[in-house]
Amino acid sequence: MDCKDAEKKIPYFLRDELDGNRLEEFVEHIENCSECREELSIQFLVSEGLERLEGGSNFNLQRELLTKMESAQRRINIHRTLWYVLICLEAAVVSAIIISLCILLRM
Ligand SMILES: [Zn+2]
Repeated sequence: MDCKDAEKKIPYFLRDELDGNRLEEFVEHIENCSECREELSIQFLVSEGLERLEGGSNFNLQRELLTKMESAQRRINIHRTLWYVLICLEAAVVSAIIISLCILLRM
């Protein structure tokens, strides 16, 4: 993903509308690109900040953005784990078929 793509996806990320590979690519880019991280910070502060100011509540937006990044990382990890489980299941099914065939052929 390049900076142009990443910038386009910032609003989707802020609305929690990215998932799976798109989320993974986005977070990976943000972690390695200080310019896009800066842009994400600004957009987050603007969108959340305005809402909070209207609500009049106390907030620590930098920490909240960090929390948001952490929860994205957790979702990526879950996605990877599911993918791994799927591959293991497939391997198990293939093994079961091969074993069944071996048994059948010996009969
Ligand atoms: Zn970038």
